Amino acid sequence: MIHAKGHDSVFATFARAERNNRLGHAYLFIGLEGIGKRTVALNLARILLCENRSPSAFRECGHCPSCAMVEAQSHPDLILASRPEESLYFNIDTIHQVISQLGLKPSRGRRKIALIDHVDDFNREAANAFLKTLEEPPLGSLLILIGGPGTERQLQTIVSRCQIIHFSPLPAELIDEILRENEVTDAQKRARIISLAQGSIGQALELNDEDLWAFRSDLVSFLGQIPIDSVALCQRWLEFLEEAPKEAGAGLRRRRAVMTLRLMISLFQESLYLGLGTPTSLTEASEKEILTRYFEQVGPDRICEQIDRTLEAITQIQQLLMTESVFEAYCDSFVRSTGVR
Ligand SMILES: [Zn+2]
Repeated sequence: MIHAKGHDSVFATFARAERNNRLGHAYLFIGLEGIGKRTVALNLARILLCENRSPSAFRECGHCPSCAMVEAQSHPDLILASRPEESLYFNIDTIHQVISQLGLKPSRGRRKIALIDHVDDFNREAANAFLKTLEEPPLGSLLILIGGPGTERQLQTIVSRCQIIHFSPLPAELIDEILRENEVTDAQKRARIISLAQGSIGQALELNDEDLWAFRSDLVSFLGQIPIDSVALCQRWLEFLEEAPKEAGAGLRRRRAVMTLRLMISLFQESLYLGLGTPTSLTEASEKEILTRYFEQVGPDRICEQIDRTLEAITQIQQLLMTESVFEAYCDSFVRSTGVR
């Protein structure tokens, strides 16, 4: 379970709490997407539900029936719940199911663990339904709630009833090491991935995608051809998003859409660095030339506006707006803002 790397302090916190008999009943995990919160939570569940643990170590045995069932996510005392992928809010029926399952006696050991993902997307109704359980969970139950980067997005009623565990972005060296383990041998490619991954190993592994980097080259070419053909740009963009494997679902397509927009932001930033004479991580001469010319033609103020506009498009994608209409409006307004049509 490589994603759990870099979070030793979280395990240490739980080990200490258990040793001192002070394990809480509700925790809220906070941190960037793909950083390993869910993996750590599953690992903790494995440790806490293991039936063959050495009394001295906070570690699962790895081969008892309980360990195998957690691994297969089929343990009767492990309750997993999350928001449906294409929905903005948590389903209230899911909350009711979690509550009723928690009310049953543990089938195997002394404890039940509920792991609830996407608590940022609890609406007030879902949060209200859950409050009582959060305040006084049935004896022996442990709730692990998983949220996004900050506590602003969760309802205060939830935050105030949980112990908060922060997940820090992983250091570049660790992501570099994990990428090397995943056979990313090209050092420049690893550096590029790391610069975009925000300290998240999940995002780094998704960025390890040849097609994505080929698409990035296309974006650079478009920036080299002012006036940019906004219709052709949008068409190419949507084609690329369509290429995402269908079976991976709409979630991956949206994450890809966000990643391509973040690539765009990094190109704008590189263009600013080149124009303003700040060191850049680019090494290819042709890219440097195109992005320097882009700076000269468009200028820093408009490039900054374009970065803002790109961030806005990312928010729209995350709010589940229709991808096509987001990109049509984005390509049109971005091309218009180059000032040359
Ligand atoms: Zn075990």
